[in-house]
Amino acid sequence: MRQSQLFTKTTKELPKDETSFNARILIKAGFADKLMAGVYSFLPLGWRVIDKIENIIRGEMNNVGGQEILMPSLQPKEIWKDTDIGPEDEKGWGRMREVMYQLKDKLGRDVGFGATHEEVAIELAKKYTHSYKDLPYAFYQFQTKFRQELRPKSGLIRGREFIMKDMYSFHKDAGELDDYYFKVGEAYKKVFDRTGCKSLMVEASGGSFTKNFSHEFQAISESGEDRIAHCDKCDFAQNIEIYKKDEIKKCPKCGGEIVVSKSIETGNIFRFYDKYTKAMGLYFTDEKGEKKPVHLASYGIGVTRLMGAIVEVHHDERGIIWPEEVAPFKAHLIELSGKNNASVRDAAGKLYNDLKKSGIEILYDDRDAGAGEKFADADLIGCPYRVVVSEKTLKENSVEVKKRNQEGAVFIGLEGVVDKLK
Ligand SMILES: [Zn+2]
Repeated sequence: MRQSQLFTKTTKELPKDETSFNARILIKAGFADKLMAGVYSFLPLGWRVIDKIENIIRGEMNNVGGQEILMPSLQPKEIWKDTDIGPEDEKGWGRMREVMYQLKDKLGRDVGFGATHEEVAIELAKKYTHSYKDLPYAFYQFQTKFRQELRPKSGLIRGREFIMKDMYSFHKDAGELDDYYFKVGEAYKKVFDRTGCKSLMVEASGGSFTKNFSHEFQAISESGEDRIAHCDKCDFAQNIEIYKKDEIKKCPKCGGEIVVSKSIETGNIFRFYDKYTKAMGLYFTDEKGEKKPVHLASYGIGVTRLMGAIVEVHHDERGIIWPEEVAPFKAHLIELSGKNNASVRDAAGKLYNDLKKSGIEILYDDRDAGAGEKFADADLIGCPYRVVVSEKTLKENSVEVKKRNQEGAVFIGLEGVVDKLK
């Protein structure tokens, strides 16, 4: 893509009320825009990153047999009345009453914007699940979720409106559910490895219900709100709230040292077993003709949250350093044509076309701007490779190639650039 045609720009003007690092740098680099607290637009560069994150997740969910669908955001109040796990709920919005955006439509019906989708998923499953032969199965979606956070201050890490991948799996019993649950846990680890946000699977803290029945994925980051105790050698990790310091001095898996680090939650998975399915009447008939409750697990990754987490983990003082699989473009081609040097323009334009033809995703800085501005923007935007064409490089019939995460550049002959970036 030609940068001169990108309708967005890098900016120095940041919203005064935005204090989180991830949102500030994504706004500055032109990936996102803030409409109100916890609510963002995703701009062309940011949307490319989200698309890549989604495709990584999609591939891994398909690998464990997930089927992609899309459920509605708008939900009727009736489906929320049976799954409440809290004290008496006068408003009838059940377990999500604290965070659900609720309204009355013109006909006086109570509707809400989905904060989560277990209830919708169960309603859907009731229509297709009758016999043991119908089980197991899993479906997932990428969808906008809405949650009324009182003070969203972590940028994309905790928004009021955000994109989430949520998957729901349905099983004949607890054993089958457990096997599948840990298989999805492994798929989650692959997602986080590939997005450059390596995360440890830890038992979740929190309420009496969530503990033991759910897990969080936590990426080590200095800016994280959470803390985990983890082994310095293997993947053993526990949430600090449930970590028993006096009992666990060495790693129970490998004997390594236990260290405490700040972390960002990147995903979570829940085993609800038959709790909500029984409450909502999702049953099946087993081999003996007996009626049994279906078992449910659910699995969430905040897609836009993950983009925020990646930025928190991968940056330096000059800007973002995107991991290759999620970068908006693989390379940033920079033309330094000085006083409109035609031979530099022609060479850069030709290289841009050659790279595009070879399927290499490239952002071409063809703007009429100085070297300082172009280099600063390239570092801020953070594509993995920077390729410079200038009078100086053309004298050597070359370009200068520099990796964003390394110091020092190398000269590469014009003919070798496509191979280098493939
Ligand atoms: Zn260990």
